Amino acid sequence: MKPTHIEHLGIAVKNLEESIKYYEEVLGLECYNIEEVKDQKVRTAFFKLGDTKIELLESTDPEGPIGKFVEKRGEGIHHIAFAVEDTQKALDDAAAKGIQLIDKAPRKGAENLNIGFLHPKSTHGVLTEFCCK
Ligand code: ZN
Repeated sequence: MKPTHIEHLGIAVKNLEESIKYYEEVLGLECYNIEEVKDQKVRTAFFKLGDTKIELLESTDPEGPIGKFVEKRGEGIHHIAFAVEDTQKALDDAAAKGIQLIDKAPRKGAENLNIGFLHPKSTHGVLTEFCCK
């Protein structure tokens, strides 16, 4: 497994519309998609910079993963997503090296990508996502 690039940075925010304003008006980026991912209890907004995206995450439920994250740690970087050729294989390779997985098998994330997470306890504190098309 060797990731080709950082597919996106996931950033937890309290208010999607307010945060979009910052990225558009201050950084001059353009939000090209807003999508609700019911499974993860979030609304997401996407910006493109080269091959990498920024994914803003606003919780739709205080008990959801992003709701709990913001409650505990405030707004900020939530995860890094690496683009891989095969999410299942990347998860299996990591598991074989003793890394604790959150997802044993890929699931569907925003933009219909196949995603899977590694546990931050095993990755020096960074919630790590693999994704592929
Ligand atoms: Zn992500």
